[in-house]
Amino acid sequence: MIPRYAPTYTFNDLLNGLKQSSDPDIENKLIARLKSYYNVRHAFLFGSGREALYAVLKAYNRPGGVLIPAYNCIVVPEAIQFAGYRPVFVDIERNSLCMTAENVKKSLSSDVQAVFLTHIFGIPCEIQEILDVLIKQNKDILIVEDAAPAIGAEYNGQVVGSFGDASVISFQSTKVISGEIGGALLTNNENLAEKLKGLKLEAVGPGSDWMLFIKALARKFVTSRNVYELAQFGYRTLRGEKMYEIVPPKVQKPKGFLSRCPSFSCALVFLQLDRLRWNLERRRNLALIYQNELSKHTEVSLPEIAQACDPAWIQYPILVDDKLSFYKHMQRNQIDVSWTYRYSCAESFGIKGFPNSIHAAETIIGLPTSPFISDEQAMEICRVANQFRGR
Ligand SMILES: *Cc1c(COP(=O)(O)O)cnc(C)c1O
Repeated sequence: MIPRYAPTYTFNDLLNGLKQSSDPDIENKLIARLKSYYNVRHAFLFGSGREALYAVLKAYNRPGGVLIPAYNCIVVPEAIQFAGYRPVFVDIERNSLCMTAENVKKSLSSDVQAVFLTHIFGIPCEIQEILDVLIKQNKDILIVEDAAPAIGAEYNGQVVGSFGDASVISFQSTKVISGEIGGALLTNNENLAEKLKGLKLEAVGPGSDWMLFIKALARKFVTSRNVYELAQFGYRTLRGEKMYEIVPPKVQKPKGFLSRCPSFSCALVFLQLDRLRWNLERRRNLALIYQNELSKHTEVSLPEIAQACDPAWIQYPILVDDKLSFYKHMQRNQIDVSWTYRYSCAESFGIKGFPNSIHAAETIIGLPTSPFISDEQAMEICRVANQFRGR
C-alpha cells in the first residue's frame, strides 16, 4: 500500500543522526544553517513548532487577540491560549484554503495584538495583501509567519518565513523535513530575541535521544510499503473512520511544554538540509502530476494557487464532496490518503460560522507528496482517483 505520508529520513540518517547527537555543538550547527538559509540574525530551537509559537507570544508579552485561520491545526489556538492570549478566528478562502486579507481586515479589532500568517499544507497565504491591510491599520501588531509546514515554500521568489517580525517552522514527522519532533523560531527583531534568550526552557530528559531514535526507527518501519497496510488498519479501524469531527481543545498546558529541541532531532534535520532542494523538487513534481492528471475530474476540486506562490506541499489537498466513498475507493486500490484536518478550529472552540473552513474540513483529502513517492506511483494514484465516480 502507498502510505499517506512517510518521514523524510532514511535508515542511514537515523544511524548518522544518533552518532551526531552526541556532538555538543550540533544545536549551534543547526542554528547557523537556519540563520543562513532564512537570512535572519536569530534562530531559537524548541521541542515543537507549537512551543515556538507559544514562545514568541510570551516574549512579546502583550496579551490580547491573535488572528488565525479557522481551518488550522488545533495545537495553534491551544498554544495561543496557553500563552495567555485569545485566538480570533478568520475564515479561509474556499479554494486557496488560506486566510485572506479581506477577512483579516474584517476581523481586526482594537484587542488584536498579533496575526499569524499561516501557510497551511505548505501553501503560502496572500502575504503581501495581508501586510498591506496591517500597514494601513497603522497599529503596532506582531506579525508571525506560521511556516510550520512550509520550509522552502516561496512567495514572490522569496522564501516564506522571512516576511514577518518572526516565523515558526516545524520538524514534526509529517512536515517538509522530519526530525521526528522539533521546531524553530526565526527573527530579526532584537527586542524579541532578547526576551527569547531569557525564556526558561525545560531540559530534555537523559536518554531521550535514544527514545527518539527508537520511535523514528519504528515510524520508518511502519510507513514502509509492506508493513503499512497492517499498521494503518490498526490505527484507522480501531480509532474509527471519522471524516469530520469536533476536537475539544486542551485547556491545560502539557507537562514539559516549552522544552529544548532534542539533539537527535537537531542532528536529523541538520543532515537532511543537504537534501532540501531535492526534497522540495520531488514534492513540486508530485503536485504537478496531481494537478495535471486530476484537473478534469468532475468529483474532485484542486486547490487554487496564486501566481506569487510556490508551495512546499507537505501533502496535496484535494476537495471531494463524498470524502468517505473516495477514501474507501482509494483504500480498496492500495492507496492511503490523509483526512487532515477534519475539523474547524472555530467550531472546536464552540464558535459558529466560518463556512469555508467547515467546507474544507468536510471535503479535504490529502494526496501523498513524500519525496520517496515516485512519479509512477503518483500516476497510479491519479489513475485510481480518476476511476472514482462518486455515489
Ligand atoms: C504542524 C503545524 C503546527 C505545529 O507544529 P508542531 O511541531 O507539530 O507543534 C503549527 N501550525 C501549522 C500550520 C502546522 O501545520
